[in-house]
Amino acid sequence: MEVAVVGQKQKQQELAVASVSDLSSSSSISSSSSSPVTARFSFDSGVAELRFFQDSESNEDFRIDLRTSQLFKLSSVESICVREDSDTDKEKSYSKGIAVRFREEEESRSFHNAFDQWKKDVVVQESCLPNGTLSAGKSKFDDKIEASSAKMYFHYYGQLLHQQNMLQDYVRTGTYYASVIENRADFVDRVVVDVGAGSGILSLFAAQAGAKHVYAVEASEMAEYARKLIAGNPLLGQRITVVKGKVEEVELPEKADILISEPMGTLLINERMLETYVIARDRFLVPNGKMFPTLGRIHMAPFSDEYLYVEIANKALFWQQQNYYGVDLTPLHDSACKGYFSQPVVDAFDPRVLVAPAISHVINFTSTKEEDLYEIDVPLKFTAAANIRIHGLACWFDVLFNGSTVQRWLTTAPGAPTTHWYQLRCVLPQPLYVMPGQEITGRLHMVAHHAQSYTIHLTLAVKSWGPSAEQGRVLQASSCKFDLKEPYYRMSQPQAYPLAQDQPIHHLINTQDIQILSQDDEGSDLMQNPPQNSDPEFH
Ligand code: SAH
Repeated sequence: MEVAVVGQKQKQQELAVASVSDLSSSSSISSSSSSPVTARFSFDSGVAELRFFQDSESNEDFRIDLRTSQLFKLSSVESICVREDSDTDKEKSYSKGIAVRFREEEESRSFHNAFDQWKKDVVVQESCLPNGTLSAGKSKFDDKIEASSAKMYFHYYGQLLHQQNMLQDYVRTGTYYASVIENRADFVDRVVVDVGAGSGILSLFAAQAGAKHVYAVEASEMAEYARKLIAGNPLLGQRITVVKGKVEEVELPEKADILISEPMGTLLINERMLETYVIARDRFLVPNGKMFPTLGRIHMAPFSDEYLYVEIANKALFWQQQNYYGVDLTPLHDSACKGYFSQPVVDAFDPRVLVAPAISHVINFTSTKEEDLYEIDVPLKFTAAANIRIHGLACWFDVLFNGSTVQRWLTTAPGAPTTHWYQLRCVLPQPLYVMPGQEITGRLHMVAHHAQSYTIHLTLAVKSWGPSAEQGRVLQASSCKFDLKEPYYRMSQPQAYPLAQDQPIHHLINTQDIQILSQDDEGSDLMQNPPQNSDPEFH
């Protein structure tokens, strides 16, 4: 892992801005000729923060923890900075926002560059060892992944039932089979490495397509079953060698002409196996060798699904009981609600819930750096197609097998035949109201963690409509943090999508009244013109 040495990093950087105002309160500060507003990025005592202040530094000011904040543009001279509360402050709220105005576009650009650079440094510094040196650990895998997570992960894949589950996903396995067999030319007389071979099925496909030799690398106990399966298919098996061990650690006797792998998790990136695939490329593949799959795309679109929203909000109703065997449970209601909304929902949904055309983020496996997968940042911009409430962001992925003869896509899109990946939805605690043609902006920020998954930060915002839109005022903003490792698997639930979007829905509870955490008067409602001369408030 490439890391920067903290001590050599810039410790402070100051920039000027026109004004800042807190979305949740009336506090704001504006520059005047005698007292400008300063934005200061600093890294002190292990904490990276952004402060806005005026006059003297002893003034009360606006502080933002860079680790948990996101910035996105609302116009050429206005941006919004949304921060999540720190872990110690869990009870309070989901998010708080600060609107920043600049005097000119150039000032905005410099601020955004500085913000992105400082955030990047935080990630690097956090993955840096205390003394700023690189670990002399065994492998990249061990450096990145907690031993307990790896143990459970390989235990899971060591069981035939889980391999069977993947083999029985016929969309998946059938697309791999077709991609290999239809692109024989890429396999005939070639050396192949199967990255994370599992049962060895893809190695057997490669051998069927005429591979000279296949190295099937598998870290879990499944390697033993793969040996058995391969030995039981001797015509193919004589050209396959099972190598038990981690891709990051094993040595192979020769380079590969082509890699084959199925490293995709939920939302493409879950399990962090794409990094293993990229490491395999750098370790084993000849220059310009082929990769099956070649690239992956994450697709994203806002959705409207009142049923889903109410279902999640209702889960926490249990904690609204004031007399549960004589105990008042309500002190934990907000925390329970927050917990439920932090789970991304995995199920197959009707594509009619999407309210804008999807955008996509491409990851090219042949060229991406492993480090690029530690933090994936996608700016979001959609145009609403209907007058509707948006409940969050729907995501799915596809991968391309860019064969010399045939190009094939394996897709997990809604409406396409369902796969064992289903689709994924991040539900926001505060829905947003949109009108047709209205622009929805935001950010999807995914940060890899040591338990082989990602923390997802999602923010969606809608600018005001009508005359005030020219001033670029924020109407509604909603953000939430999700753990991709802890999804809510909803596939077995009955799906209820018979209603057209405009039909009335019988609410179990009135969703407008849900008090999801104390924050929502702020993210949701508007940033009107903040009253001037008010005392700033701090968070
Ligand atoms: N290729 C098989 C299995 C895919 S599941 C198929 O398509 O059916 C992914 C497999 O990769 C699992 O069996 C898992 O144990 C293995 N794996 C994941 N990370 C690995 C690593 N770093 N080194 C070796 N094997 C790994």
